Amino acid sequence: MQRTLEAWLRLAQTRVHERAPELTALDQAIGDGDHGINLDRGFTAIVAALDAGLTPVDGPESAQAAAVLKAAGRTLISTVGGASGPLYGTAFLKASAAVAASDGAPAGAVVAALEAAASGVGTLGKSTPGEKTMLDALVPAATAARQALEAGGDVDAVLGAARDAADAGVTATIPLVATKGRASYLGERSAGHADPGATSAALLLRALADAAAAA
Ligand code: ADP
Ligand code: MG
Repeated sequence: MQRTLEAWLRLAQTRVHERAPELTALDQAIGDGDHGINLDRGFTAIVAALDAGLTPVDGPESAQAAAVLKAAGRTLISTVGGASGPLYGTAFLKASAAVAASDGAPAGAVVAALEAAASGVGTLGKSTPGEKTMLDALVPAATAARQALEAGGDVDAVLGAARDAADAGVTATIPLVATKGRASYLGERSAGHADPGATSAALLLRALADAAAAA
């Protein structure tokens, strides 16, 4: 699990970097135009931390995986800034705690992590789905992942369901009027553009599904 997570974070960095201009353009339309730059900085710092080598932890595989997520969360909080740094950082820290508390079965751990991430963002951001934020990708992803798990799905099925639901969630943000974050300052003018944070959340979940499928 730990290796897959490290592979995911490296793949995420590559894709965030490639799509930083697009994320920034989305944030130019409804925010301040820094979302791609912010995340690119954060994931570059995560990869630098992985390259430097994380402090080894004792314990089961789930503890090692949790340590990777915790390091990523802390790095995002300290390097990204803006709204998305603390929000994504919290998502990773909550996911880390959920993985640490799991029995180590990968599909169940993934679902618990997604649910914890989504609820951590909602609590910190005082936000709920439908407000044109990253939650419009994360919450449907967690719900779809839970359904896939309950239908007997393995980790690839769970992550595939999360990825597809997140993509649909991004599309669903286009007509929404933002009521949280900077985009809310635009009021009705925020409608007609996808939310940058929902777009990056879907990008990260697609990279996770791809990294797990390649493992
Ligand atoms: P900033 O808005 O400070 O410039 P970013 O541009 O990096 O930060 O991130 C903007 C994204 O953060 C938005 O597209 C949205 O998805 C997310 N976001 C902002 N505020 C909230 C909130 N209260 N709850 C959930 N997500 C939020
Ligand atoms: Mg911004």
